[in-house]
This record gives sequence, structure tokens and C-alpha cells, in this order.
Amino acid sequence: MTTPDIVELRTRRYNGTVISLRKVHSDLMIVRIQPDFPVPAYKPGQYCSLGLGYWEPRTDGCQVETLTPEDLTKVVRRAYSISNSILEADGRLVDAGNANYLEFYIVLVRENADGRVPAFTPRLFALKEGDRINIGEKITGAYTLDPVGPGDTVLFLGTGTGEAPHNSMLCELLRRGHTGRILMASCVRYARDLGYLGTHNRVMKAFPNYTYLPLTTREATVTKKTYIQDVIAGGELEEHLGKRLKPAETHVFLCGNPKMIGVPHRDKQTGEKTYPKPVGVIELLEGRGFQADVSSIKFKGTIHFEEYW
Ligand SMILES: Cc1cc2nc3c(=O)[nH]c(=O)nc-3n(C[C@H](O)[C@H](O)[C@H](O)COP(=O)(O)OP(=O)(O)OC[C@H]3O[C@@H](n4cnc5c(N)ncnc54)[C@H](O)[C@@H]3O)c2cc1C
Repeated sequence: MTTPDIVELRTRRYNGTVISLRKVHSDLMIVRIQPDFPVPAYKPGQYCSLGLGYWEPRTDGCQVETLTPEDLTKVVRRAYSISNSILEADGRLVDAGNANYLEFYIVLVRENADGRVPAFTPRLFALKEGDRINIGEKITGAYTLDPVGPGDTVLFLGTGTGEAPHNSMLCELLRRGHTGRILMASCVRYARDLGYLGTHNRVMKAFPNYTYLPLTTREATVTKKTYIQDVIAGGELEEHLGKRLKPAETHVFLCGNPKMIGVPHRDKQTGEKTYPKPVGVIELLEGRGFQADVSSIKFKGTIHFEEYW
């Protein structure tokens, strides 16, 4: 493809600019995108799409991709939760509803075991500030604070970049003056994968009803891998919360790796529920009286979830 072809495709297909790009490390970024259109009103926890042309270069060290000439003019789009840096440099809470950009927290997927070669993130990680991108005009999703009351206990449990929507929801709760306890647990492989750790430490100092619980599964200094399921089953989560988990006054938000969430399969005929293995958070909490949302029968519980794949 010639340079004028690429310039023409970018002009026609892109409608947003990368205004800030912070690499937490080579494979993790916090990026802000300013759309050419006014940022639509949205609810914290929702997501939109980001897209890049197959004509864009990919970052080094990713799974080999084979494209046809027809592929080369297409745009690959993926869903991304809107994140939030929670605190401004001067300590004020971010006013995301009045910002002219959207923030995202994205990990580089270098290879994919399921056969589909990762198309979007290898291209995203080759971008720099000032570059152009496609951003979806529709912000959507049912993973929001709608069911949460002002004094409820709120647990945000995420794996990796599954923290993104939780950061937006946390900021909104703090702006509303939420009086209940709020605990966020983030499970990552290494401590360096905690892209917002410094922010959460600042938030904990400023808001005594908030606790951030980082967990790692591959850190050399940690002898035991700690998953979110472990801190629930072992009682550590309740210790950090300072109270027992009570379904009637607690909302649990689960985001990221489907194995952590563990959505049960429901038999359409009998309604019988089968939980996946290994044990996920839904099975653990339903064993303690909680009930998860079931979208197919429009049932609303107090466990809400967003699976990333
Ligand atoms: C509603 C929704 C919101 C999402 N929000 C985010 C977000 O805020 N940040 C983000 O990084 N991703 C998010 N994702 C995942 C995102 O849409 C892409 O699937 C991901 O970035 C990989 O894109 P890709 O084209 O490079 O690889 P793909 O070809 O899409 O490869 C997908 C494979 O990559 C792996 N994968 C996908 N996402 C992740 C992840 N976050 N962490 C580890 N492995 C992953 C899985 O094995 C999956 O099968 C979200 C997905 C959904 C459905």
C-alpha cells in the first residue's frame, strides 16, 4: 500500500486523536483519546469501541499475522471499558462527565491461544501521542452503578485491565459522597502490572471508606499465588473490609478474565445451573447467599459482571 493510500484511509476512517499515552511498561498503557465529536453522555462502567486499520504497523514480538490484500483496507474494532485516573494532580476528583477525552487502560495481547491472531492491540501499542484512531460514537453497556444505593457496601473485583470500569465507577461513587464501604481488589501477574497503584494509594489516604487490595499471581517474592477466589474463601477479603459480606447490603462487580468470574451454564429446558471449573467468584458467593444477574431471564441479583473474552 502506498503512503498516499494510507493517508487517505486514515483521513476517511479515523475520528479521534491520541492526546496522552502513558506506557506503564512495554505491554500496558493508559491512553486518552479525544474524539472529533463531543464526548457523549455515558454511565461509569460502560464501554465503546476503538479501531485501527489493518494497514497500520504492528509492534514487534507479536504472533505472525497473514493478511489478504482485501484485509489491508479494513478497520479492526474492539470493545474497551472507559477508565478514569480518579484524582487530578491537585487532589480533586476527576470530573469525567465534563472531559473532552475518554481514558482507557489496555494490555498488549501478543499471542492468542484460540487461533485468532491478535489484530488490534499490536497496532495500538505502535502508536504515539498525536496519532489518529477510530473511536465508536456509541457508549454502551449494562455494567453500571444503577443498582447501588448510597450506603451499600461495594466490591469491585477485577483481573488485569478489568480494573478499568471499576476506576470510573469508584470515581463516581466518591463524587456522590458514597457513605458505604468500598473495596477494590485487582489481581495481576506481577506488581508492575498495577498501572494505577499510586493513584489508589492516594485515594485510600483521602477517603477512609475506600480500600485497594492488589493481588499478584507470579511475583517472585510471593510464595503463594493469590487469586481473588482465595481471598474470598480464606476470609481475607472480609478482614480488609472490616465486616461480614451480607448479600442484602452488598453489590459485587466482577470484570475481566471469565475464569475468575465463573458464569454458570443454565440448561434452557430445566433451568439447572452448572458452574464451570476451576471455581469462580460467582460459585463462591452464590454458596453464601448472593445471586448473580441472569440477563437471559432479566433477573437482577447483587453480583454484576463483565467478561472481557
Ligand atoms: C465489554 C468489553 C470491554 C473490554 N475492555 C477492555 C479494557 O478496558 N482493556 C483491555 O485491555 N481489554 C478490554 N477488552 C478486551 C478487548 O476488547 C480485546 O479483546 C483485547 O484488547 C485484545 O484485542 P486484540 O485484537 O489484540 O486480540 P483479540 O484477537 O481480540 O484476542 C482476544 C484474546 O486475547 C485475550 N485477551 C483479551 N482481552 C484481554 C485482557 N484484557 N487481558 C488479557 N488477555 C486478554 C483473550 O485470550 C482473548 O481470547 C474488553 C472486552 C469487552 C468485551
